[in-house]
Amino acid sequence: MAVREVIRMGHPTLRLKAKEVAREEIQTPEFKALVQDMFDTMAEEEGIGIAAPQINVSKQVAIVGIPHDNPRYPDAPENEEEDPGFDVMVVINPKITITNQEQSGFWEGCLSVPGLRGYVERPIGVKVDYIDIDGKDQTIELSGFGATVMQHELDHLNGILYVDHVKDITKLSYTEEYMEFHDDES
Ligand code: ZN
Repeated sequence: MAVREVIRMGHPTLRLKAKEVAREEIQTPEFKALVQDMFDTMAEEEGIGIAAPQINVSKQVAIVGIPHDNPRYPDAPENEEEDPGFDVMVVINPKITITNQEQSGFWEGCLSVPGLRGYVERPIGVKVDYIDIDGKDQTIELSGFGATVMQHELDHLNGILYVDHVKDITKLSYTEEYMEFHDDES
């Protein structure tokens, strides 16, 4: 268990295409330790997702928090509006397919781009084929904010940052100014 340093925009590792994980590697203590460190680091930084390249490990593994207000989880409680809760999943060697090209926009943030928010539009529906933490093949379909969170994290495995998707640079903001001036936009 360890909180690792999160590398920031400008570090070359964030721009690499991450290497696939061999299926037999998933059960090794080293890989389990890597994933545990990713969980610890994400919790410390209060992120809703983290990808291995963000702790300077260029492998195709990401942890993604999927909000409970997603149709994929119809039975999940939709209780507190401020904190609807997340299901957290480990995604290895993902292959993403756009299932709905319609775009929706969110102000995104990133542990590797601290202190900033930017408005990004992405397709609202995706399907992801991946290997889970037990080494099993899985498929998940996501829409809305869950689809955005997934695309953001999986971009990290391809050397892409959310700022690459900010089309209107006037919608790139420091967090404080975002809260003051842009919080009601979407
Ligand atoms: Zn990020």
